[in-house]
Parts: sequence; C-alpha cells; structure tokens
Amino acid sequence: MEIYHEGARSLPVVQQVDVLVAGGGPSGVAAATAAARAGQNTLMIERYGFCGGMATAGMSGAICGLFTSGKSAPLRQLVHGFAGEFYHHLQKRGAVSAPFPFGATALVVHDPQVWKEIADDLLADSGVKVLFHTQMTDVVMQDGELKGVIIENKSGRQVILAKRFVDATGDGDLCVKAGVPHTLGRNGMVQYPTMVFRMNQVDIARGIGHSMQQLEVWVEEAQRQGYTLPRRHIYLLPSPRPNEVMCNVTSILREDGRPIDATSAEDLTFAEQSGRRQIRQYERFLQRFVPGFEHAKINDVATQIGIRQSRTIVGQGKLTNDDVLLARKSPRSVAKSAWCIEAHNNDGIFMFYLDNDYYDIPYDTLLPQQVPNLITAGRTLCAEHEALASARVTAQCFLTGYAAGTAAALSLRQNRAFAGVDIAELCSIIEYSV
Ligand SMILES: Cc1cc2nc3c(=O)[nH]c(=O)nc-3n(C[C@H](O)[C@H](O)[C@H](O)COP(=O)(O)OP(=O)(O)OC[C@H]3O[C@@H](n4cnc5c(N)ncnc54)[C@H](O)[C@@H]3O)c2cc1C
Repeated sequence: MEIYHEGARSLPVVQQVDVLVAGGGPSGVAAATAAARAGQNTLMIERYGFCGGMATAGMSGAICGLFTSGKSAPLRQLVHGFAGEFYHHLQKRGAVSAPFPFGATALVVHDPQVWKEIADDLLADSGVKVLFHTQMTDVVMQDGELKGVIIENKSGRQVILAKRFVDATGDGDLCVKAGVPHTLGRNGMVQYPTMVFRMNQVDIARGIGHSMQQLEVWVEEAQRQGYTLPRRHIYLLPSPRPNEVMCNVTSILREDGRPIDATSAEDLTFAEQSGRRQIRQYERFLQRFVPGFEHAKINDVATQIGIRQSRTIVGQGKLTNDDVLLARKSPRSVAKSAWCIEAHNNDGIFMFYLDNDYYDIPYDTLLPQQVPNLITAGRTLCAEHEALASARVTAQCFLTGYAAGTAAALSLRQNRAFAGVDIAELCSIIEYSV
C-alpha cells in the first residue's frame, strides 16, 4: 500500500475539563450525568446530533434487562438506579410500552424520539456540557497516562484535555487509540447487525402475539416462494405509538458468510445497503404472510445499521460465560442482570434464560488493563462472547455507564486511579439495586 506521511500540526486546545465522556449512547449519557451530578466539570462528545447510539440511531427499540427472568416466580423489576430512572421518565411521557413477554422474561418498547429528548434534559439538568457532531479521532498520551483527546468537527481538528476519561463509544475507539488491547467476538465471529424499521397501520390485535414457531413457519414458506429472508427467528414488538410495530427481523453477513466488522467503513457500507434491500423483502413478507400486517407500511428506518458487537476491551476482570450461566455473584458488582444470553450468531440465534436468578457484572470488567485514568462502559466491557450477548443490553449499559461516571468523580476526589476506587462507596451512590 502506498503511504502518505501526514506532517505534524499544531492544534488548539479548546477545552479543559475534569471528565471527558466519548460517546452519547445509553452508557455515555449515564456516565456523563453521573459525573456531573457528582460535581465534576464534564463534557460529553457525540458524533451524531442526538443521544442514544444504538438505542435511537440503531433504533434498537426496547429496553431489555430491567426485569427478572424465570417461570417459577412472577416477573418484577430487578434493576433500578439510572436504568430505573430513565424508565420512569419514559413512563411519565407516555413513551414506553407495558412490559412485553420475551421468552422467560420481558422488555419494554420505547419511543426513540422521546428517548433523545429525555437524554437532552438529563444532561442539561445535571450540568453536562455537550458537543454534538464531534468525533473523537485520536488521543494525547504522556508517560502512559491519557492527557486529552483529539476531536474533529466542522470547526476543524482540536484538542480537549481532561483528568478522567470514559470510553462510551460502543466500539472502544478511545481505548484502542490509547493502546488498550481488544478482542473481536469469539475468534473474530461477532454477532450480526440488523437494520431495524417500524411499520404503522398494523392491526395490533391480530398482528402481535404470533408464536416464534408460527413466524418461522411463515418465513420458511416465503423462502420457498423465492423471498430473500435470511433470518427466520424474527421479533415483532408493539411500539408505544398506536398501530405501530418495531420490526427487528433482518440479519446482515458478507456474501461469503463472514461477519460484518463494524470498524471497517467498507463492511458498514455493505451492511447499510444490504439492510435497506432486506427491509423491503421483509415488508412484502409481513404484508403477505402475517395476519394483521395486510395494510402495514414502513414508516421509519434506523438512521444507521444496528451494531450489536464490535471491539471488546481486554480488562482487569472478565465476565465469563459461566458467570452468566451459573448466575455468579461478585463482591465487586456494579450492575446485575437477569437478561438472557441472546447471541445473534452467523449460524443462528443461541438463547439461554436464567430461572429466577441473576448474575453480577464486576467493576473490574470496565477497567482496561493499562491506562489508569481511563474506564469503559456499555457494550465494550470485557466479557466472553456469549456473556456479552447478555450484558450488552440497554438497562445494563445504563448501569455500567452510571458506575463509570461515578467512579470518575470518586477517583478524582480521592486522587486515585480508577482501579483504587472504593466499591462500597461507589455502590452507595449508584443504587442499582434496591
Ligand atoms: C439491532 C439491535 C437491536 C437491539 N435490541 C435491543 C433491545 O431490544 N433492547 C435492549 O436493551 N438492547 C438492544 N440492543 C442493544 C443496545 O441497543 C446496545 O447494546 C446499547 O445501545 C449499547 O450502548 P452503548 O452506550 O454501549 O453503545 P452505543 O449505543 O453504540 O453508543 C455509542 C455512542 O458513541 C458514539 N460514538 C461512537 N464512536 C464515536 C467517536 N469516535 N466519537 C464520538 N462519538 C462516537 C455513537 O454515535 C453512539 O451514540 C440492540 C442492539 C442492536 C444493534
């Protein structure tokens, strides 16, 4: 490959803050809110013009991970803290469905527009400075410590200095630039992306509640008739808006079956274009085969292809598959979860439900192996492939994000590295469990 050597450039330092949060998805919004509430001068940068990441731009559609799981006891809300707070705001604005059954547990479907507005309000009320349309592209390092980030936006290439950093980019961009090692799924096999869309004019009484098996039978029949429907296990979820359904039904792989690498612009381009083609196939299928969808039309499509998984950082602790399967508890827990393992693999979906139990997510899974003033949260936490396929959902991203932002404030106040933060004190602030 031909190489161009970029010359050294002098960049303006445009801000100096206590806590810099890169990324404004569920974990970034939670982290920035927590750090600012704890009195730190906090800046959150986000490449889009709104918050929510995969929950809004990717239109993931629902909050999973709020409730207990199992057939042996009635379902109840399991996690609270920032996840409970955000859920409550959605409820107050009439922007979330009633709990909807999902296997042995339940989820709630949200309105992505109201999601963005709630995030704006929480950030403003807690005093977070927000910079939209701004991408973190590089880092400023000194003696193994992170000093700042290089950002790019329409104003040019600039530097922001900070004392503590939270990587909430979902793809581990900040960690990777700072030299933290990472892995990609199980030996490079990451979960497939989905282009999510919404259909309106659905007769909800007839269109929702078909069993998964029945939907699979209809998909197989349509496949025999020549429809291109690569995914059989499809989710149709009732939106809080009247007569509208969230359709989480597509699945994208390269032509040779290779998974999409969300850190490759070429793969992402392929995924966006394939996703748009697939949703028209599924629209036709739903109208023709699924009762209740006869007059339904696509009324909204996700802003970007939905990425479930990309880079996973190598952390000081790791959430293992056995931790989830055996519902292990940890004295260093900052979040808990009863969400199933829901691994959208290229050879099909692997599901596993806990029965009336939950597992803990330890603080150390958020701590990169190097770089003492950097922490991550959300879907980049250190976990084995199947464990991540459970721990990556929104309620747990809210919780790990809030823990990361609170830890940033505590580590500054106590003049310690992230690793030295007192877990009991951290937990007394984040109140993720009541
Ligand atoms: C198709 C699909 C369906 C899903 N369904 C559900 C569901 O029903 N329920 C559920 O709970 N979860 C669901 N999820 C999972 C959930 O949406 C995500 O795991 C969650 O949004 C992850 O949050 P995060 O904050 O870790 O990262 P993200 O949501 O990915 O947010 C990262 C943010 O960082 C920004 N960013 C990235 N890089 C940079 C950079 N370099 N500089 C500046 N900003 C940057 C992005 O724009 C984004 O806003 C689904 C995910 C997908 C893809």
